[in-house]
Amino acid sequence: MSDKKPEPWPKERFERWYREHPVIPSRDYVKTLVPRIKALGEREGIELEKYGEATYTTVSETVEGGTSRINRVTHELYRLLIGDFSQEKPVYIVAGGTHGYEKGGPLAALKFAEEEASRYADRFNIVIYLCLSPGPYEKELRFTEGRIDVNRDAFLDKAQSQEMQALASSVKELHQRLLGGDPGRKFAAAIDLHETPFMDIAIDKENAEVGGETFELEIFPKGMFLIAFDEDLELANKIIQNVRREGHHVVDDDTLYGSPNHDGVLLMSEMGPVKGRVRQLFKQFTTASFTTEYCDEQLTDQTPDAERVEPQMAAIRGMFSDR
Ligand SMILES: [Zn+2]
Repeated sequence: MSDKKPEPWPKERFERWYREHPVIPSRDYVKTLVPRIKALGEREGIELEKYGEATYTTVSETVEGGTSRINRVTHELYRLLIGDFSQEKPVYIVAGGTHGYEKGGPLAALKFAEEEASRYADRFNIVIYLCLSPGPYEKELRFTEGRIDVNRDAFLDKAQSQEMQALASSVKELHQRLLGGDPGRKFAAAIDLHETPFMDIAIDKENAEVGGETFELEIFPKGMFLIAFDEDLELANKIIQNVRREGHHVVDDDTLYGSPNHDGVLLMSEMGPVKGRVRQLFKQFTTASFTTEYCDEQLTDQTPDAERVEPQMAAIRGMFSDR
């Protein structure tokens, strides 16, 4: 065994990394998510807006002879506006699919839009970003093209990834439209839905090889936890307590990734420097902003969708609940 560290990847390998992964049919963005999104746009009281596009270079196999062809694929990025958007009602944001492989987020955001959001529309204005990273979603990848982690990317104006660029300008535009761009006025809260699944073990290994960030997965957490800014602890508690009340496991280890666990809540001040998260982007426009993490070492695409979706739905409901 050599002690030598692996050579970091050459630039060219980062560039071809994305296109070499195939689209997984059960996750095909255009075939499985877009029809549901478009159907929501037909409903009364729901406004479907395209806020951008993401274009990916990908490889498709031709049937005869098994040769491969390089294609450019463009996916439309969508958000839903649910409610009358009158000024008296607070605005809440729900986002899924920051990390494409974490399927529970987009599926929960969609299900919430399809089955529950309209019930809250008499009291709240709700904005739902259904799937921030459609390319990584359909290939079950954490990273987007160039092996960029959308949730570590810069914002507002210096983002490298097209997904973060589109999201940042879209939230900014929404703030301008609804609140006149006044920095003293903010939306009520945002929640970005994430998972820590089985695949993180392999990703962590590849990260080490690439010379990037490594996770601390010696103790794989189990259940839901929430990351919150310190001043948002009250709403954070309401969210995580609702997850528990609905019967889902909340992570009960004393510490998580080296930070104290406050009954299912990790506080930003105790996490050390954290850059480029979608929750930080939202926080520039919202009073409170959260990230959910539903963790399970057994979580794969073979896991029934409901197991991944229901804890996230409970967190979303917690954000709106009166208790
Ligand atoms: Zn994630």
